[in-house]
This record gives sequence, structure tokens and C-alpha cells, in this order.
Amino acid sequence: MSPTILDGRRVSADIRAELRPRVAALAEKHRAPGLAVILAGHNPASEIYVRNKVKACAELGIRSFQSTPPDTVTTEELLALVEQYNQDPEVDGILVQMPLPPQVDAQRVIVAVDPAKDADGFHPFNLGNLVANRPAPRPCTPAGIMELLARYDVPIAGSRAVVVGRSDIVGKPMALLLLHQHATVTICHSKTRELAAECRRADILVAAMGKPALLTAEHIREGAVVIDVGVNRVTDETLAKRLFAQEPARLEAFARTGSLVVGDVDPRALVERSSAYTPVPGGVGPLTIAMLMSNTVHLAERRLNGG
Ligand code: NDP
Repeated sequence: MSPTILDGRRVSADIRAELRPRVAALAEKHRAPGLAVILAGHNPASEIYVRNKVKACAELGIRSFQSTPPDTVTTEELLALVEQYNQDPEVDGILVQMPLPPQVDAQRVIVAVDPAKDADGFHPFNLGNLVANRPAPRPCTPAGIMELLARYDVPIAGSRAVVVGRSDIVGKPMALLLLHQHATVTICHSKTRELAAECRRADILVAAMGKPALLTAEHIREGAVVIDVGVNRVTDETLAKRLFAQEPARLEAFARTGSLVVGDVDPRALVERSSAYTPVPGGVGPLTIAMLMSNTVHLAERRLNGG
């Protein structure tokens, strides 16, 4: 039987549709929610992400405020900007787009954001709440994956979950969220021995390494649910032809543009071995933005309704 494709675009649209009446209620009673976005320097990928986030805000009726300090911005200047948004009564959520220019102390900037306005859920106070399973804004990508699993009725309690990757923004919070839903969780990383054997134990396998198609059929237990977080641009024609031999549309796009996006899991293995999987693109990516919107609305409700 062919696997279920876990459609992140559809779930993202559903989440955003559910937010719409909440945004309208806030606008009617108080004012529209406000999200401040800080995009420092010129990073083409970040510019696209921010454009999509601002567009998603506009579509929902959330006000967005953008600051675009130059590549040369200092830590002190960014701290001052964050503080300005912390004090601004029109702003409910603050997002500092990562990565920041290399001269900036990113940790200091993250810690400077008021935890009550932490739209990304990266502040150590909120990460502490995540560890303790207390309410707080959650990092958007893993929170979106939990929404996806819930909406496709993927059983989590008692299942074996393996998360490959231990970053602060994806791997670690992902593992904690699965743990809080009573999965038995293993976290793997670049020093893990026998990665394939670890991964093959998974009922739910989450790949978040940033390595194109690194996980193959030998990593996937027959019938596992596979969540592919990776976003990797492939420009090697031989690799593209090998991975997408069965997908002529993708190869045509490669021939036109000279690149394509691939996840951390070999797409052929997803089809062969999994019972359900997230495609790349169209899987996890759209959920991240939906959860940023959700966090912003939630923070606005807490501020404005005192909830
Ligand atoms: P990081 O680079 O911060 O972390 C990568 C993790 O993968 C590290 O923990 C690293 O281990 C581990 N790793 C690297 N190579 C291997 C390997 N060969 N075997 C096992 N583990 C390995 O990445 P992020 O967590 O920020 O992002 C991961 C991917 O997800 C990227 O492709 C990114 O673009 C994508 N992403 C997608 C989002 C979306 O919305 N779709 C949002 C955020 C990220 P170690 O700690 O030992 O170095």
C-alpha cells in the first residue's frame, strides 16, 4: 500500500483558518495582534523566510513591524532594537531571524527578548517551561510537527520515537514534545554509533540534520512514520538524477533552475518503507509559519485579554 503523504500545506491552512476568528475577536475588542520582525543583514534565505512570515501575517490580519538593520549591526544596536519592541505596547510578539551576522552575540539577543513576547519560543525561560511541560510559546517547527501528528491521528503514547539532530531549535524541543506525549524517545547526533540500527527502532522517525538524503531505506523500519525536517539545496546533477529518477517533474525543474530542494531522507526510501511521511517541500516548512502565527495570536490574547 502506498504511504500517506502528510500534507503540511493543508494542515498549515487549517491552523491559519482556525486563527482567523481569534484575530478578528482581538481586533474587535482591542486591536489586531502585532508581530515585530528583526532581519539583520542580507541573507537571501532569511529574506525569503521573513517575506513569507510577513505575508502570512498580512493574510491573517496580524500587523507586522519590520526592522532591517545592516550587516554591520552591533550586538548593542540589536539589544537596543529588541528593547524598543519590548516596550512597544503595539507589539505582542518579537521574532529575531537567525542566523545573525557573525559579529553579533546571538545568545545575548535571544535572552534580551521579553519572554512574554517570545514568538519563536527560543528564550531560556520558555525553554525551561518546555522542559517542565508548562504552558509557554513552543519552538515553531517541532510544535508544528506535533500538530501534524495529532491531525493525522498518529499514535504517540507508548511509541518509539527517534529524533536525529539535537539543535536547540528543532531536535531537542522535538524530543521533549514527543516525550511529554509519552513516546519513548531516543536522540541521535553526529557522534551516534550505528545510526541506522537506532533509526530502525523508530515508529516515528524525525530527521533534522541538514544533510541531503542521508537517511536511506536501511534507516527506516517498515511502516514507520517519517518526518523529514531537512531543507537542503542540491546542485549536483548526478545526485538529483539518482534521487528523483521516478519524478520527471522534479528533474525538469532541476534542468531549468540548476538546483532543487531535498530533505534529509532519501525520497525513494520514504515511498518504499514508510507508512506515512512529510514531503519536502510541502511538509514541515509550511507548519513552521503557521505555528509562528499561532504563537503570536496566543501571546496577544495573553496580553490583551489577560489570559
Ligand atoms: P543544526 O545544524 O543546528 O543541527 C544539525 C544536527 O544534526 C546536529 O545536532 C548534528 O549533530 C546532527 N547531525 C549532523 N550530521 C549528522 C549525521 N551525519 N548523523 C547524525 N546526526 C547528524 O540544524 P537545525 O536543527 O537548525 O536544522 C536541521 C535541518 O532542518 C536543516 O536542513 C534546516 O534547514 C532544517 N530546518 C527546517 C525548518 C523548516 O521549517 N522546514 C526549520 C528549521 C530547520 P551534532 O550536534 O553532533 O553536531
